[in-house]
Amino acid sequence: TTSLCVFTSDLRLSDNPVLRGAAGSAEQVVPLFVVDRGLAGTGFAVPNRVAFLADALADLDAGLRRRGGRLVVRQGDAVPEILRAARQADADEVHIAGGVSGYATRREQRLRAALAEDGRELRVHGAVITAVEPGEVTPAGRDHFAVFTPYFRAWQRAGLRKALTAPHTVTVPSALRSEPVAVVTSLASGSPSPGLPEGGETAGRDRVRSWWRSGLGRYADRQDDLAGDATSRLSPYLHFGCLSPVELVHRARQAGGPGADAFVRQLAWRDFHHQVLAARPDAARADYRPRGDRWRDDSAEIAAWKAGRTGYPLVDAGMRQLRQEGWMHNRARLLVASFLTKTLYTDWRIGARHFLDLLVDGDVANNQLNWQWAAGTGTDTRPNRVLNPLAQARRFDPDGAYVRRWVPELAGVPGSGVHTPWRLPTAERDRLDYPAPIVDLQEGLIRFERARQ
Ligand code: FAD
Repeated sequence: TTSLCVFTSDLRLSDNPVLRGAAGSAEQVVPLFVVDRGLAGTGFAVPNRVAFLADALADLDAGLRRRGGRLVVRQGDAVPEILRAARQADADEVHIAGGVSGYATRREQRLRAALAEDGRELRVHGAVITAVEPGEVTPAGRDHFAVFTPYFRAWQRAGLRKALTAPHTVTVPSALRSEPVAVVTSLASGSPSPGLPEGGETAGRDRVRSWWRSGLGRYADRQDDLAGDATSRLSPYLHFGCLSPVELVHRARQAGGPGADAFVRQLAWRDFHHQVLAARPDAARADYRPRGDRWRDDSAEIAAWKAGRTGYPLVDAGMRQLRQEGWMHNRARLLVASFLTKTLYTDWRIGARHFLDLLVDGDVANNQLNWQWAAGTGTDTRPNRVLNPLAQARRFDPDGAYVRRWVPELAGVPGSGVHTPWRLPTAERDRLDYPAPIVDLQEGLIRFERARQ
């Protein structure tokens, strides 16, 4: 018999229940990836993520070839392409990971119906994309947790499935046609950010090894140190499923200690947002807790924010890092999101869209729901808190090293003075090609408070 293994957000061989499920029940497996033309127009296929995806697929193909198989790549609309491949290979079963977005859920429903009509079975695997499957832990009488802390308590008590090893051999029917892996690059035009990391399971596992050696132990103390850059940078690997969250949680729990505990807590945040989105797919666009905001829409302010020229150096440093690396430190993400939504009082969807245009880890669940959290329309239990860029600078970039790294115009300003260039002597300030603040912080607070009344 033959089974189809459809890869989606699980581009790995290790600890992949979809691949193991398909390989376990059949003599032959078709490892299939569909370059989904339906995604081309949705704004999700952007140069940074497409470049990372191309690496990940090439790495997956190489890993399958080492096991005697290969990756079969097709392009078109996902459901008919999967159905066609199932017919060509005469596969009885099609295995796929359970998804959480509205898009993935609709794909699953359509696929189930199409396969059933053909006398084939769809097998959906849980705990592939998240460590704990959405809906597995719920508060009494509700379908999802709306607050992180009680979710985290329940999440920690939830049983984790065992981690699975990669299959030793994968036997693929020889007659099946495949497109070259590189066709995926045609999904997006434009160049990726210069500092983009290499994609794929191999690169991800390398990063995990060095993170375990030199990052994890000190993570609890250093996770908010902007210049220290002391977080794992595993997010794009998790987003594309090059790494398994189940495996990471098991390994971190085994390692133990404050760093590992703090790291596990962040992985639980990831699951938290996924279970919110699974229960409320409309939260990708609509306010999770609508407050009737009448957002301002000032195109010059929005353009300055996107360009990293707001005149607030810490905000600008974050925005420049995003453009250069396709990634931004979490502390900076929180600040730039608060600045856009609460100081400039601009609709969070505008910020979320810009992030999705550039983030290599850009993810509907994590991006949209973190944006809503920062904007106060989401799951933050203190929705009216406003982050002050100067107070954040004092705490998380005290000597200004993060700003000097990302804002070259200010690289010559020593010490913490780099956070307040408007206080420099006039002659010195005039020599810098750096803008004056686009908004007075006090005025920003007034805008926000008025809007709240
Ligand atoms: P680490 O600190 O090493 O954390 C380990 C892992 O935990 C991360 O790789 C990530 O998978 C997960 N994680 C950590 N913090 C969060 C969080 N707040 N929410 C969900 N998961 C978390 N993360 C994304 O993966 N994709 C996004 O599109 C995304 N958009 C964001 C938008 C905003 C406005 C904010 C405030 C945060 C966003 N995050 C997003 C969450 C977080 O900033 C990143 O996951 C983190 O910075 C990635 O760096 P890291 O891998 O070094 O994280």
